[in-house]
Amino acid sequence: MKNLVVVSCVSDDRKAPLSVYILNNYRKDVVEGVEKYASGLDADIMYLLPEGQKVEGLEGDVRYTCACSPTLNNPYSVVQVLSGNLPRPMIQDDFVAVYEDKAVSVITPEVAYGIVNGLEEKFVAVNVGDATEIKKVKVGTTVNEVVDIADAKAVLFGGLKGEFVTVAEAAGLKIEALEKYNSITVYSKQDCMVDACVQLMNAAYEDSCGKCVLCREGTSQFKQIVTEMTTGKAKITDIDLVKEVSELISIGAYCPFGQNMTKPLTTAMNLFEDEFEDHIKRKTCKCGKCYKAAELYFIDPDECQGCGDCIDACPEDAIEGKDGYIHIIDQDLCEQCGKCVSACDEGCIKTATKLPKLPKKKTKVGKW
Ligand code: SF4
Ligand code: SF4
Ligand code: SF4
Repeated sequence: MKNLVVVSCVSDDRKAPLSVYILNNYRKDVVEGVEKYASGLDADIMYLLPEGQKVEGLEGDVRYTCACSPTLNNPYSVVQVLSGNLPRPMIQDDFVAVYEDKAVSVITPEVAYGIVNGLEEKFVAVNVGDATEIKKVKVGTTVNEVVDIADAKAVLFGGLKGEFVTVAEAAGLKIEALEKYNSITVYSKQDCMVDACVQLMNAAYEDSCGKCVLCREGTSQFKQIVTEMTTGKAKITDIDLVKEVSELISIGAYCPFGQNMTKPLTTAMNLFEDEFEDHIKRKTCKCGKCYKAAELYFIDPDECQGCGDCIDACPEDAIEGKDGYIHIIDQDLCEQCGKCVSACDEGCIKTATKLPKLPKKKTKVGKW
């Protein structure tokens, strides 16, 4: 059986899109590294790129996929995508992934670059605010030399699978040839760490391939719990719950993504305990990010005409009512998306930080 080496450019962290950058800017080195690697395996070569990405001068077998996933550094997951299926990894030492009668192995552009140039250099995606800059730095360079963190609040190393560290600790770190240094994200003093964790857990939920229950349910539940911390619905016991469940997930999830995706949240909880407690116990956000989300939606019982137009607009099925009766929003289900507001021609869906008196049982329009 001949072999196949797939150069996967679709397994990056969304905030650290290193592969296409390296391929575009160091194509000759990458191609040389891939050819060296493939010749040792007597393998054909295929490049797998994100849909819509073109790499000037790249020759040979180039395929495209819209299925960017952290699991696409796994040969079985790559074979699934090449076969038109969803990306799903297989983690077994003795498992051989096969595509068109060829045994598949996977390499990234960064590894191929390293085969030619050694491991003295490292590509790092530096995220500050909404801007991402990819830098090539010497291994051993201090983080301080790569990005100015003097006025920062925290630094996340490793993106969705990474860990938050304090600025003081980050300043003393040196870049190593490890995946953790693929991505450095700087959070400023204006950034709310609970809100930051909401964004990270939303992205982790999007990236989970859903193959194993711990990661699929874990990302979904954690996304919900941390969102509730920003809307006044969480309990203080949720902090310990998240930490305990994280340990189980880190042991039981199937692939490295699931095993590590809770780390940003748990490390943020450890470093910024007061900030999380402020949100949960005192329902305050000192950065002013989460209060807006804590606005509660309600239907004004004096104005509702009982037409039901708002029900279909609600993606959470949070609106209850029937024709001719005053409609009610179930606050446990409402996610404060605001979609119902424009569905009500009468303008009777309103917001407040504290709910007014509302019907507790079915009430006919005009009887309130
Ligand atoms: S841990 Fe997550 S990403 Fe990995 S196989 Fe399981 S569901 Fe998929
Ligand atoms: S809230 Fe508006 S859209 Fe919904 S039932 Fe009442 S009047 Fe109709
Ligand atoms: S704000 Fe969104 S979730 Fe809440 S009731 Fe309206 S449509 Fe539903």
